[in-house]
Amino acid sequence: METPLDRLRDVLPPEAIDTSAEGTFRASLDNLRLSRCPEAVLRPADEDGVAAILALANEHRMPLTTRGAGSATTGAATPADGGWVLDLSGWKQLAVREATMSAFVQPGVTVKALDNAAAEAGLAYPPDPGSATHATLGGTIACNAGGLRGAKYGVTRDYVMGLEGFLPTGEFVRWGGNLRKFACGYNIRDLWIGSEGTLGIITGAVLRLIPRPVARRTALLAYSDEPAALAAAAAIRKRRVIPSILEFLDRETVAATLRLWHRVAPDKLTAFPRAWTADTPALLLVETDGEPVQADAEMAAVLEAAGTHAAHRHTAASAEEAETLWTVRRSCSQAMFELGDTKLNEDVVLPLDAQEPFFQAIERLRRETGLPMPTFGHAADGNFHVHIMYDAGNPAHRDKARDGIRRLMEQVVALDGAISGEHGIGLAKTPFMALQHGAAELAVMRRVKEAFDPNKILNPGKLLEPFEIWNHPRTKVRLPWDH
Ligand SMILES: Cc1cc2nc3c(=O)[nH]c(=O)nc-3n(C[C@H](O)[C@H](O)[C@H](O)COP(=O)(O)OP(=O)(O)OC[C@H]3O[C@@H](n4cnc5c(N)ncnc54)[C@H](O)[C@@H]3O)c2cc1C
Repeated sequence: METPLDRLRDVLPPEAIDTSAEGTFRASLDNLRLSRCPEAVLRPADEDGVAAILALANEHRMPLTTRGAGSATTGAATPADGGWVLDLSGWKQLAVREATMSAFVQPGVTVKALDNAAAEAGLAYPPDPGSATHATLGGTIACNAGGLRGAKYGVTRDYVMGLEGFLPTGEFVRWGGNLRKFACGYNIRDLWIGSEGTLGIITGAVLRLIPRPVARRTALLAYSDEPAALAAAAAIRKRRVIPSILEFLDRETVAATLRLWHRVAPDKLTAFPRAWTADTPALLLVETDGEPVQADAEMAAVLEAAGTHAAHRHTAASAEEAETLWTVRRSCSQAMFELGDTKLNEDVVLPLDAQEPFFQAIERLRRETGLPMPTFGHAADGNFHVHIMYDAGNPAHRDKARDGIRRLMEQVVALDGAISGEHGIGLAKTPFMALQHGAAELAVMRRVKEAFDPNKILNPGKLLEPFEIWNHPRTKVRLPWDH
């Protein structure tokens, strides 16, 4: 009897179907490192191929998980129910349209590649996740990714003008276009953004670009502890300045990150006093941008508001030095492995006036679980990456981590926050969706899913079905962004 895979071989060339052990393993996980091998990884060359794959998958109720770089931290790109993976990371057409200050991109273009191309025309694509050199535009649109510059420039959603792609039936659809406004019925474009590949497949996008800021100023401010650093961030807000970046790093994060760089490239740490290795401060890393006059004036205001109580302050003398500081910041996520072999990586978001009680809650949890909970994030928009580090081989650690994460999420919701600000839900956060949303809200989401994908073939198991990551071992494989 002909299997669905046999039928696929009738419509796709052999090089578009990968069933190798290595290929299916690579496509079996994302940065959560929870591996579920698919039957095949499919790399169609064109839209006819995508349509044919979808029509077959839908007919056979075959789970289909679309994939970009696989840098999601939640298991969003893990093919939880096996089936087929649709890998669009090789779709890299990119055209900057200077006249309309926009770009057409295929889903496999990386965030960094788009921003580099925009820069050649004096333009910029502001969303800048820490994974920008790897993460694809298909993946970042599907996750509504944020990044360091969110408070001033917004997130991916704010730059998507049009999307095109496919429904699970294999029908082609287009939502919006190269248009600054679009008021033609339900806004399905915005529904696809952040839907984590559960409602449709994105094969093209029109993205808004902005004039590129010509000047950037960067400063590093150190404080004795977290409350002092957060008070300084609040003072910047009170001064009515919105820096392009305002990053907060707690003392555990700074200690782990310094340890990593002392090992791999100590020359990157010239702006970090040696004494900090023993007596680690909490940090703010700030960037202002715009015309030189504006960037200078805003940085002066930041230093006036937040510099007075800083134990140490350092302003980057050159663009190269600033870039080194941001490279160190972007390594924080990986540096966590200095503190434990496994991490729970959360990206909760709090109202701007709830940061103090939130950090008190983290301190309590850290004390009660005895586990490291390094926390850093985007202080200007209240989006913090809390990591619970533990030794996966130690059952007591696992229990404490599991309990700790639930209590963290309960605290976040109690403070009117949200369980995810930018990474999304994937598999890892599904158990907390019922904390975030009431039954009526979840029921509407289920009906939306059913309207788009009645056979539940698109990325099944994500967002709405509670999934217990604790029942599944995580692999230790090295991924491209690991140091
Ligand atoms: C070191 C590091 C730093 C990070 N920093 C940030 C950060 O600052 N901010 C942030 O928001 N995130 C961050 N992330 C998370 C991650 O990079 C983002 O979630 C990103 O959006 C994932 O893009 P990707 O191409 O890797 O997508 P994948 O991981 O491949 O897929 C993610 C989701 O998108 C879906 N998808 C992918 N392509 C398509 C498509 N064409 N059509 C429909 N659905 C699709 C997948 O099915 C999956 O649900 C970081 C990750 C790492 C490893």
